[in-house]
Amino acid sequence: MNIDELLKKPHLSASSVSDYIDCGLQYKFGRVDNLPREFSPDTMEYGSAIHRTLADFYQEKMVGNTLSLPDIQALFEKYWKQAAQVIPYLRYSTGKNFAILLSEGKELLKAYYENVPDEGFTTIAIEEPVGFYINGLDVPIVGYIDLIEQDDAGTIIITDWKTSGKAYSLKDISANMQVTIYQMAMKAMGHTGEILLKLDVLIKTKQPKFEPYYTSRTEEDERRVIKKIKAVWKGIQNNIFIPNDTSWKCYGCVYKTYCNSYFLEEAI
Ligand code: SF4
Repeated sequence: MNIDELLKKPHLSASSVSDYIDCGLQYKFGRVDNLPREFSPDTMEYGSAIHRTLADFYQEKMVGNTLSLPDIQALFEKYWKQAAQVIPYLRYSTGKNFAILLSEGKELLKAYYENVPDEGFTTIAIEEPVGFYINGLDVPIVGYIDLIEQDDAGTIIITDWKTSGKAYSLKDISANMQVTIYQMAMKAMGHTGEILLKLDVLIKTKQPKFEPYYTSRTEEDERRVIKKIKAVWKGIQNNIFIPNDTSWKCYGCVYKTYCNSYFLEEAI
C-alpha cells in the first residue's frame, strides 16, 4: 500500500488514537483545527534528535558499517543543533537549555551504545512505512516502524525506540498500543511467521540507562485495540472531542491558551 497516497486521505495512526484517548480537545486543536502549537517542547525535539541518530546508526549497520560512539554522538549533536536553530518557539523545560540537553543526549546514547545487546539479528528495514485497513473501518491505519530485524529462525523483531523520564513498568509494556498496531500491520501485509515486539527505552534519569523490553501480543490484545480504534473513529466522525483536564498532558500542553478560551466559552 502506498503510504503517501494513504496520508493524503483521512487516516488514523497509533499516535493519533492515543492523542484522542488522552485528550479529545487537544486532538481537535492539533489534528482537526490544525492550530499552530504555541511552542515546541524540548522533550519532543530532543526525542526526535535521538530517534534520527538511532535511525542513522542502523542505516549504517545495514550496509555493514558499525559506527563508533563518537560517531553517533556527533550525529546527535548535528540533529540537536538543527532542531535548536530551526524549530520556532522551542521551549526548554525548567533547568534545561541547549548545552545541558546536548550533554545529556550524548550520555544517553553512551548508555545505549554500551548496553544494547548484539543479538546477531539481520536488519531488514528502518523507519518502514506501513498502512492497512481493519474490517469494518473505512479509514486506513498508518505508521512508520522504527526498526525491523530478523533472527536466524525467521522470527521478525519489531522495535520501537522511546526516550522516557523513567523505566517502563510491566503495565507500560503490556499496554503499549503502538507495537500491537505494528504487529497487526505486519500480518495485514502478509507476514505469517513469528513476531516479537520490543521497546528500546533510553531512560533520561540522572544516571542515563538503556532497557530493551521484549513483549508479545495475542489475538485478544489485537481485538481490544481494534475495538478502541473503532470507538475513537466513531467519536471523531461525530465531532466528540472531550477535554481531559486531569490528563498528564495538561502540564506542558501546547494548546493551553486555546484550551483556557474553550473553558471560558459559554456552555450551550
Ligand atoms: S490543557 Fe489539558 S484539557 Fe486542555 S487541551 Fe491541553 S491536554 Fe486537553
